[in-house]
Amino acid sequence: MVLNILHLYPKEMNLYGDHGNVLALRRRCEWRGIGANIIPCEPGNAFPENVDLIFGGGGQDSGQSRIEQDLLSHGERLRMLIEAGTPALVICGLYQLFGKGFRTSEGQFIKGIGIFPAETTAGSKRLVGNITLSTDAFGEVVGFENHSGLTFLNGCQPFGTVVRGAGNNGKDHTEGAVYNNCIGTYLHGPILPKNPALTDHLIRTALKNKYPDASSLLPLDDAVEEAAHKNAAGRPR
Ligand code: GLN
Repeated sequence: MVLNILHLYPKEMNLYGDHGNVLALRRRCEWRGIGANIIPCEPGNAFPENVDLIFGGGGQDSGQSRIEQDLLSHGERLRMLIEAGTPALVICGLYQLFGKGFRTSEGQFIKGIGIFPAETTAGSKRLVGNITLSTDAFGEVVGFENHSGLTFLNGCQPFGTVVRGAGNNGKDHTEGAVYNNCIGTYLHGPILPKNPALTDHLIRTALKNKYPDASSLLPLDDAVEEAAHKNAAGRPR
């Protein structure tokens, strides 16, 4: 079994360890004998034929601006994959652009592909620090946030509820967004190595879509991942 993992804009969209998410996906596949074929997509690249899982990280406003047109050009393909149930995880800068768009503090509007109805506008101060969420599907989720954008969901389902930290906008206690099997979140850190239930959920969903007869995922020894999680949860904001 092999999963084709699309990595959106690894050069521009990579903040605070986001590439570690791809490493976690790859390793947790390989430790179970599942192949992980990572397909980087940079501006100008053709969109790959076969995609089983989508990942994209965060980026500075300038980086978001540089990938804007290319992302819009792939919007329809990405929408079709997500409508078909392909699992996706997008962090911060790409989370904002999987929504309707991001208005920067300079007033520039960077248009998104509208998977989520969410809208984001830069606030006057950055929201920075360690963050803890409670989620129905994955229990406690920990990470690190650093964004100026304030996101309002416009009716979309949140990914989690903020236990400590700011989350989408520092006001309504929501964090991230979910549509079908696509998850958007502000959590860097990176999020996947220290939240293995989330990593396995993405892998399991991709496997079930591609190989309906595949048996359940082999359990792994998560002692190191659990220690990393506990450490992150205990760090000062
Ligand atoms: N540039 C965006 C913001 O500041 C996204 C930042 C990020 O990806 N960490 O809100």
